[in-house]
Amino acid sequence: MIRDSYGRPLKSLRISVTSKCNFDCVYCHQEGIEKSRSEMTAEEIERIVRLSAAHGVKKVKITGGEPLLRHDIEEIIERIAGVEGIIEVSMTTNAALLTKKAEGLRAAGLRRVNISLDTLDPAVFKEITQGGRLETVIEGVKSAVEYGLEPVKLNMVVMRNLNTDKIKEMIAFASENRAILQLIGLMENEYSDEFFKEYSCDLDRIVAELEEEANEVLIRKFMQNRTRYILDEGEVEVVFPMHNTEFCANCTRIRVTADGKFKPCLMRTDNYVDFLDAMRSGASDVELEKLFLEAVSRREPYFKKRVDISEAEAADVKNEGSV
Ligand code: SAM
Ligand code: SF4
Repeated sequence: MIRDSYGRPLKSLRISVTSKCNFDCVYCHQEGIEKSRSEMTAEEIERIVRLSAAHGVKKVKITGGEPLLRHDIEEIIERIAGVEGIIEVSMTTNAALLTKKAEGLRAAGLRRVNISLDTLDPAVFKEITQGGRLETVIEGVKSAVEYGLEPVKLNMVVMRNLNTDKIKEMIAFASENRAILQLIGLMENEYSDEFFKEYSCDLDRIVAELEEEANEVLIRKFMQNRTRYILDEGEVEVVFPMHNTEFCANCTRIRVTADGKFKPCLMRTDNYVDFLDAMRSGASDVELEKLFLEAVSRREPYFKKRVDISEAEAADVKNEGSV
């Protein structure tokens, strides 16, 4: 298994298969996609997975944009699931199109899904997604469970004054539907700066309440040390990448953008490694492997412990006047 220069093993790929989306969520970071470039074909995606699997990558998560907008999504899943060494293919989706696709995706080899769901209030849902219909997503959740895409995880981005008071309601909904709620801290990005300032919230209070009420607390090693709380109402996990040294220290994934670039870090847009141009110009597997290794060598924890803080970051902190 390959490790980066910080000793972190590389275990999974998170591949964006399209930059298109049928929603327009107010906070969306679009996973760092340049919209003008063309998407990878199913064959190109399979090739990059095969190459990564040869270095020990075992799990692949498909994302977007909205991956269910790809007409060949079943073929993509089938090709990835067929690669030697890959033990799990999962997907993150808004689920608006999942009801009609769940059965085919399961048959193609999809094992489980994360479904974005921030609220159970149709009006708030419409506001967040800028036009989405909540009932289609709820049907999608039920179809995912019905066709065995389990465990279904519901990704809830926590936003101050928008859904912070609805967490218990969401845990109960998830539990009734045999799903697990995952609370995600709102991340700042170039598309949603104003929104971030208004709606980001400190998860500490929420976490303290969960800790107090939980019957059991589990730490998920190699999943960025995420914490899972087992409550009477159901299960809930917390993912908080911003300013989280544990999240970065335990990161074991590399991202691939829809336009064919390795993205070594969720938080950065300045260290991509393009492989699609090379692939389309006839690069051999050995040449592509070099690009893969280059991307792995560019992996470094974005949020580091104080002792590791780089000079540049230290200067930033100083400029902001904080300790
Ligand atoms: N369209 C699919 C979906 O919504 O699940 C897949 C792509 S979406 C970019 C992947 C995940 O990123 C979603 O769960 C979404 O809620 C989350 N996300 C997008 N922008 C975010 C932000 N600014 N902060 C935190 N999570 C965000
Ligand atoms: Fe972004 Fe997913 Fe919302 Fe589409 S559905 S806008 S990709 S978070």
